[in-house]
Amino acid sequence: MTSPVTLQFLGAAGTVTGSKYLLEAGDRRVVVDAGMYQGAKELRERNREKFPIDAAAIDAVLITHAHADHISYLPALVDQGFSGPVFCTAGTSRLGEIVMLDAAHLMKLTTEQARHGGWSKHPNPRSLYQVEDAERAIDLLRTVDYETDVEVLPGITARWTRAGHILGSASIRVSVDGVDVLFSGDLGRDDHPILKPRDTPRGARWVLCESTYGDREHETPEVAHEPLAAAIRRTIARGGAVVIAAFAIDRTEGVLHALTQLEREGRIPQVPVIVDGPMSLKALEVYRAMPEELRDGIDVDDFTGLKDLTLARSGQESRKAQRRTDPRIVVSSSGMLEGGRVLNHLQQVLPDPKNLVVLSGYQGEGTRGRALIEGARHLKINGRHVPVRAEVLQDTEFSGHAGASELVRWIAELDPQPEALFLVHGEPEAAAALEARLEKELGVMAVVAKHGEKVLLSDPVEE
Ligand SMILES: [Zn+2]
Repeated sequence: MTSPVTLQFLGAAGTVTGSKYLLEAGDRRVVVDAGMYQGAKELRERNREKFPIDAAAIDAVLITHAHADHISYLPALVDQGFSGPVFCTAGTSRLGEIVMLDAAHLMKLTTEQARHGGWSKHPNPRSLYQVEDAERAIDLLRTVDYETDVEVLPGITARWTRAGHILGSASIRVSVDGVDVLFSGDLGRDDHPILKPRDTPRGARWVLCESTYGDREHETPEVAHEPLAAAIRRTIARGGAVVIAAFAIDRTEGVLHALTQLEREGRIPQVPVIVDGPMSLKALEVYRAMPEELRDGIDVDDFTGLKDLTLARSGQESRKAQRRTDPRIVVSSSGMLEGGRVLNHLQQVLPDPKNLVVLSGYQGEGTRGRALIEGARHLKINGRHVPVRAEVLQDTEFSGHAGASELVRWIAELDPQPEALFLVHGEPEAAAALEARLEKELGVMAVVAKHGEKVLLSDPVEE
């Protein structure tokens, strides 16, 4: 007799971070995604909670993509005793290594600062995990090819399908003793500017779908990035500098691609462009090293072929870039101005009205980026209040997530159609809006997943 197959939502239920799902069949346990919670403090505190099952009892982990909210909890599982294989695509493996080490080093730095600064509430602050845990997690990564069935455990196979969200990203269809469940992972837009577009996976009886933009659509303008181009033109004309805040992975590449196009089309003048950020540059290396991931007709030159491009790797190169006073464009992270080298550039450019600050993505509540677009007159950076006199622009054309209609389309194309669809990775309003739309437009039963909830996937066994 086969054991019942169950699924439990251990993260990204009712929120967009902390993706973790547990599949159980008898004594076999597979975790899909191992993401950290990010954002609000009460969410981040969940990272400190003990994992609900013994980590040593997890047999394997499957990863959809290398964003921290999908992979950076992996070293914490290792710290708690997990030592099984971790399956992911080659792109996710290469980017995941960068992301996990970055998280571990950042934790180490913050803990040391807290200890020496004495501002921690804990008498002896300790990191969630150590650099060695991240290194051990990296050693567990095993790469898989897209569209290939992989036996991850006896009786459990999985197949990765392109999701077009970031390099290496995938949806994963898992078959447990013949019970099929599809995890969408994060889904990109119908068209990614530089990566191969997403493919349609085979449908499944049970489907988990992200709902980040479940209540929003993306507009497609007639002329791409014209507000950005116009703002850059007037800034350079008045002798100012442009600072573009961009998420380290994928958004930096997207911004560079847009700038390259604008320069080639003569829509912005040729000025020095500087990419400043260690993680951004490491990720850019991966994008350059994996041309097989790029969409047809796109060349590495299409996003690194700017006439005057400087990659500021070292701290010294970064400081040199900060001291410049000439008209220039700086692309730096973090994307929501929560840390990183972009803050040093902001300190420099924010007080002068001739400069321009561009936000290239969604700005979470409580972030400096959100404050800027809401018209803050000063920002606190490195302990000091800095006046905001520079022009501020949010370019909403960059998005790594499918809009509501694109999500509906992804679901509509699944064959077979699901018996139940679980909506995850969305704020409650976004998930609720998508739930209503799916019932109405596709007649599919959609359920907004609840944190900690467990559902039965196999048929009930008759007594
Ligand atoms: Zn993501």
